[in-house]
Amino acid sequence: MKLLTTLAAGFAAAIAFVAVPSMAQDKGLVGIAMPTKSSLRWISDGNELKSALEQKGYTVDLQYAEDDIPNQLSQVENMVTKGAKALVIASIDGTTLSAVLQQAADANIPVVAYDRLIRDSPNVAYYTTFDNFKVGVLQAESLVAGLKERFPDQKPWNVELFGGSPDDNNAFFFYDGAMSVLQPMIDSGDIVIKSGQMGMQTVGTLRWDAAVAQARMDNILSANYSDGSRVHGVLAPYDGLSRGIISSLRGVGYGTDSQPWPIITGQDAEVPSVKAIITGEQYSTVYKDTRQLAQVTAQLVDDVLSGKEPQINDTKTYNNGVKVIASNLLVPVSVDKSNYQQVVVDSGYIKAEDLK
Ligand code: BGC
Repeated sequence: MKLLTTLAAGFAAAIAFVAVPSMAQDKGLVGIAMPTKSSLRWISDGNELKSALEQKGYTVDLQYAEDDIPNQLSQVENMVTKGAKALVIASIDGTTLSAVLQQAADANIPVVAYDRLIRDSPNVAYYTTFDNFKVGVLQAESLVAGLKERFPDQKPWNVELFGGSPDDNNAFFFYDGAMSVLQPMIDSGDIVIKSGQMGMQTVGTLRWDAAVAQARMDNILSANYSDGSRVHGVLAPYDGLSRGIISSLRGVGYGTDSQPWPIITGQDAEVPSVKAIITGEQYSTVYKDTRQLAQVTAQLVDDVLSGKEPQINDTKTYNNGVKVIASNLLVPVSVDKSNYQQVVVDSGYIKAEDLK
């Protein structure tokens, strides 16, 4: 009897085991277009989104375009042709996708702008991202806190400004958020932009390219600091750029007791930059939990495709030039030496051993 019960239980378990995958619904294809693998964050965004959507029963076509606009365009066209039910797009240049988005609209495919707003098209249904203005505010607040801590007696502080890629709508939000904190201090004379270089048209860094930022920092240093004056702070909007800027500063002798590192900000909590925060080369970064963004986006896609109302928490901030896109904004967190352990390690975002 006992044997029979055990056998029966085993049999039931085996049926259940076989039955689960065959019962999992095939809810169709979702296309995910990511900008580049050259930055760690997009790799984890892509992986997280893919697995979250697969868990909900979708098949996923995940593509990276290596920051090449025509490449991203043809990847998205291909997804439409393959019959995707929805598209999730982190664009390279948010103004270049209008034609393919019209094709998507004609085929009733909802489009979600992921992290970066897609501009100049009516065919964007939703936008999932972080509070991008707040990212800039956090960067500037951390810059100011660092200046007070490291250079208390050296006012006015010499600061240089870097912006993100001018074809990425986010770059303007980061810059404007930062300037909402810095401009009053420039006006009061506490901060001096020694190079005089201000405004996104001047300080933007095409395609968020670290080499471009490094070359610009080299030029700023030789043109404005050869007289022995020191840079006290650099507003850098993304960890990759921060590392380029650090290389440039190291090249002219920063990073010693007599010539300490300026306060350098960042974004994305990339492993090499968290390491640089631990060693003191970079002062801070802004952590955005891309796992959470992926989960929220997968849920939104599933809700839309199942005819449910998706969760939205902002309906006024993101006008894409044609209409305001209903958005779900997540909260960014400032990270420096004092809280990296708690924020990025204890949360499981970065493994402690990866920081050794
Ligand atoms: C993202 C940032 C990222 C930057 C460069 C922006 O659109 O919001 O998280 O640092 O692109 O990849």
